[in-house]
Amino acid sequence: MATPSTFHTPSTSNPKVLIIGAGMGGVTLALLLEKANIDYEIYERAKELKAVGSAIGIAPNVMPMMEQLGLLDDIKGIYQVFKQMDVYNESPDGETLELSSRTEFSELKELSGYPSVSMSRPEFHALLISRVPAHKLHLGKRVLSISQDDETGVLIRTSDGMSHEGDILVGADGAYSSVRHSLYKQLANEGLLPSSDAEDLKVCHMSILGTSNPVDPALIPPAEDGLSRGCSVVGHNKPHSLPLGANGGYVTIGDLVDNTPQENITKVMLEEKLYNTWYHRRTVLIGDACHKMLPNAGRGAVNAMLDAVILANAIYEIGVDATPRNIQSAFREYFNERFPHAKADLEASQKMAKLNAGQTWSDNLRRKVVFKFMPASLMRSYFTRTLAYRPQASFLPKVECRGSVKPEPQKKSKRYQRENAIAV
Ligand SMILES: Cc1cc2nc3c(=O)[nH]c(=O)nc-3n(C[C@H](O)[C@H](O)[C@H](O)COP(=O)(O)OP(=O)(O)OC[C@H]3O[C@@H](n4cnc5c(N)ncnc54)[C@H](O)[C@@H]3O)c2cc1C
Repeated sequence: MATPSTFHTPSTSNPKVLIIGAGMGGVTLALLLEKANIDYEIYERAKELKAVGSAIGIAPNVMPMMEQLGLLDDIKGIYQVFKQMDVYNESPDGETLELSSRTEFSELKELSGYPSVSMSRPEFHALLISRVPAHKLHLGKRVLSISQDDETGVLIRTSDGMSHEGDILVGADGAYSSVRHSLYKQLANEGLLPSSDAEDLKVCHMSILGTSNPVDPALIPPAEDGLSRGCSVVGHNKPHSLPLGANGGYVTIGDLVDNTPQENITKVMLEEKLYNTWYHRRTVLIGDACHKMLPNAGRGAVNAMLDAVILANAIYEIGVDATPRNIQSAFREYFNERFPHAKADLEASQKMAKLNAGQTWSDNLRRKVVFKFMPASLMRSYFTRTLAYRPQASFLPKVECRGSVKPEPQKKSKRYQRENAIAV
């Protein structure tokens, strides 16, 4: 096995990318690099891939990129249109739940050309994974530590006693990222870690009991009306009924839990943090590893996938000249584009969490006032602003805009234009 000082012969061709983590961000990046004809490998700690969680909402921002990857038709086969979100509050006497707000999402399709959708998370993840060549995905490989050197490359050590080498290392290994941990240790040793990044993730005082795939179809009917039905409970577990049963019937949260196989029930602690350091030398972070958001606005996985496309564009631009300088400038480009968007979405997720699930008296009041009196135009302007960001892979044929909101202008790939001109 190679040692860190001699571990890699720097690339004179496209760089070799090591992706750590086969979650939404890591797998999307792999699919993009595959299309860009860039060498990569994915290392995943799980011995078998089994996505946890029930439903996942995917906003239209990533759909043009999914279409470029040839995934849109398959996604259409598994999604349900996310038409509205209802929030229920306990009635003043504590006996029942009453509808406190309803947010409509139906206009997203007209604005962006794609609806906001909800899917089974395991199905969506399995679809993405099915497009990654099997020999590129290495399971049962928990990354324990990383080494990197400007001149020679990167090296990871995995729990099976092996080490693996490359030119670029991508930490797509989630909120408790080992790559981030190792990277920040190096930065701290070099006196380069900002103090804000030395602090741990902030765990918010909220827990969710997620149910997935309830077994009794009488309790949760298939969404014959095209609406998706998901359920999450904040805080206590009183036997209140919700209109989620068959033919508009009511069921309690207890019914949902009782009718869900034990192994599909997860209690999730929700953390949030926006890190300021996303790269150093040959290592870069994407997804929850650098921006962990509360799930209330459904933006975490969407941002992980948006990171993937912008990073893939930047890596593609490096071309055959993977010098430390070019790698740094690719990472800088990626960070400069993605950080403001991730920050805005993290803040929106914070606000949405408070609005939808805040438990104080003032949260309750704010919820009533905002949802009752907020003009529809304000919501539309929020959607318009958010949906304008629909970046695409710069090295694949562009997908036409089908919505009334034009996408933000995107930097063209010089390499793609050059190579296409030569091909023509
Ligand atoms: C309850 C809940 C609901 C949510 N709903 C939505 C939603 O509707 N829409 C949305 O956009 N987002 C949603 N999110 C957020 C979303 O799940 C995350 O933002 C997203 O999964 C992040 O993707 P990722 O690829 O960065 O990390 P992850 O999905 O966490 O993937 C990280 C991968 O890295 C692997 N790994 C970890 N450590 C190592 C290691 N040392 N070595 C090798 N592999 C390793 C893990 O096994 C995992 O496979 C929700 C989150 C929660 C908690």
